Parts: sequence; C-alpha cells; structure tokens
Amino acid sequence: ISSKLPNVGITIFTKMSKMALEYGAINLSQGFPDFDVAPDLIDRVHHYMKSGMNQYAPMPGVPALREAIANKTEQCYGYKPNVDTEITVTCGAIEAIHSSISALVSAGEEVIIMDPAYDAYQPIIELQGAKAVRVPLTSAYAINWQSVAEAVTPQTKMILINSPHNPSGAIISEEDLAALEEITAGTEILVLSDEVYEHIVFDGEMHQSVFKSEKLRKRCVVTASFGKTFHATGWRMGYLIAPEVLTTEIRKVHQFNTFTIHTPTQYALADYLQNPATYEAVAKMYQQKRDYFLKAMKPSKFKPIPSNGTYFQLMDYSAISDKGDIEFAEWLTKEVGVAAIPTSVFYADGRDNKVLRFCFAKHEDTLKAAAEKLCAL
Ligand code: GLN
Repeated sequence: ISSKLPNVGITIFTKMSKMALEYGAINLSQGFPDFDVAPDLIDRVHHYMKSGMNQYAPMPGVPALREAIANKTEQCYGYKPNVDTEITVTCGAIEAIHSSISALVSAGEEVIIMDPAYDAYQPIIELQGAKAVRVPLTSAYAINWQSVAEAVTPQTKMILINSPHNPSGAIISEEDLAALEEITAGTEILVLSDEVYEHIVFDGEMHQSVFKSEKLRKRCVVTASFGKTFHATGWRMGYLIAPEVLTTEIRKVHQFNTFTIHTPTQYALADYLQNPATYEAVAKMYQQKRDYFLKAMKPSKFKPIPSNGTYFQLMDYSAISDKGDIEFAEWLTKEVGVAAIPTSVFYADGRDNKVLRFCFAKHEDTLKAAAEKLCAL
C-alpha cells in the first residue's frame, strides 16, 4: 500500500535500545531512568487499585489530578489554569502533542518547528497533510527569532517550541518569550510549547514556561510529562493545558483517541503532587548526575556541549573518529559496549555534526561503567 509516512522508519530510540540489548551494551541511548519510582508513589497506585478505582476515569482526567495540576502550575509559574476547561490528562506527552496537532492543524497549513527537533513532531504534522517548516537553531541551540519571523507565512498555524530542548538541553530565556510574544502579536498563530523537562533545569536557571506570559498563554498549548518528572516513562502519564477554546477542540480528538487514562495512577499522582518537594527535588538530583557524568568523562576524547536541562548530554566525538554519527553509534554499541543516540536524526537534512546524545538518567555505577569504556577510546 502507499505509505502515509514514506520517510519514517522505526525510531532511533527503539533501534538503539534494541541494539543495546542485543549486544549487552550499557544503554545511554533512549531517554529513561534505570532507577525506580518512589516507593510511596507506587504504594498510592496499589492503594487505589485495591480500593476499586479501576474503571474509566472521566474523559479529561480525574478532577483531583486536574486540581493538583492547576495548583502545581500556579505554584511554579504564577498562573492557575481552569480545572474543568483547560486541563486534560493524556497518555504521555506524545498523546498530548498528537491530539493537539490533529485537532488544531489542517491540511495545507504550516507549523514552524526548530532544527534540530525531537523526531516525533514532523511526522505528526505531516499526517494532517500540513507542512513542517524548519527553522535552524543557532550553533548554541538557541532560537533565531529573526529566522522564525521570516518563516511566518499566511499559512502559519502554529509555532512549536521545546524547552528544555531535546536533544541539546538548551533552555529558553525571558527574552525568547518576549520575542515569541512579538512575532505572534496581532496574528492567529498558535503556540505549542513542549515542556516535558520543565523540572530538569540546572545551575540555578529557571524554567521559562510560556505560562509566565499572559499574552502567550491565551494562544498556547503546553504539554507536560509525569514520566519524566517521576521516573516513570512506562506509565505513559502526561497532560496538556490550553485555553478553553483550544481544549474543547483537542478533547474532541482525545476522546476518540485514548479516551481516558489509567485511573488508579491518576489518583496516586493527585496525592503525590500535594507535596511540592516531589518535583522540586528533581533538578538537583539530575544536576548531580550530569556533573558526575561530565567529571567521569573528563579524561576522554569526547568534548561535552553544555547542557542546561533535560537528562541528556551532547558529546562531540570528532577527536575520536570521522565515521558518520549513525555508523559511530552502532560501532560504539557493538564494539565498545555503550549505546547513545546519533543526533543527525533530529535534523531535517540528517546533518552529521559528529555529536552523540547520552542519557545520564542512570545510577552512578551505570554512568561510571559507561565512562570507563568511553575514556578508553
Ligand atoms: N523521549 C525519549 C528520548 O528522547 C524517547 C521516547 C521514545 O522512545 N519514543 O529518548
């Protein structure tokens, strides 16, 4: 049959994790922690399973969780979204992104995304018959707002930003929010802000959520992830926040897509979120891991590219090999025993910068063992 996504194969994350398993390599490729969820959170899930909370949740999510999300958002960013009309619990952030783009972007319209960008955005846009317009980030992975402004056309429906940024770990500043306000002022352009790593920001920097801008939040869908924050990527728990006019449309898709999300886990997260320390502790924990990994890698020939957020660290390997990054990542997995993600997959043109992405959401022992192998090169 003719493919709707002729240029899409199996994602690099699936490919590299499979290869890591096959060759017994230390897996620093796909982004997931190798340590467990907090026992008291697991206890809460059990508790609600045993108390009979095992049937369909309300379509937008259980009220207690939406209330907890509203309070958390207010506490973090000074804005309390409406519990009934603006918050929807989704199957991971990817369902939030998929349902939002499906509901809001039509065939023939354009969505501006950055280059490099997380691999899922462009195929989701193209499935709508819409066009992804790529705007290159600067060499420091910052957004070039002049180029964004130049990429806007009468067909531009949405601008998609992602901070902290996967794969680079770059974060946006207040000036970026101001630039986005200026570009969208007086237009109908929507913003999708993928903020799944909102709680993983380092060195005393603040996550600049679009919620901080009164102007932006009126035109903005924000997507977020419990999987990233609470080390539970397999639970597939995410959510989105958007103004009522947008949420109404997005829920039309959500209700016929995943419909509702795992009920007992929603109740458990609602309890767990009551204590802000649960998400406030995450940045410090990951900063320690980042610093541990960087220190362990210091004697190596890999050159780190500064990361301000996420649990990813980019490393330039050009002093070690002139292999292309996909070939090098495969070789590293098979011959050295460490799996990482080649970054060319995040570029529209597959550009090879000789840079790999390493996930440091791992036990120190895991990071140490990986660094020892990498330092031997
Ligand atoms: N977000 C994860 C990463 O960047 C991958 C998730 C997936 O495999 N789809 O590594």
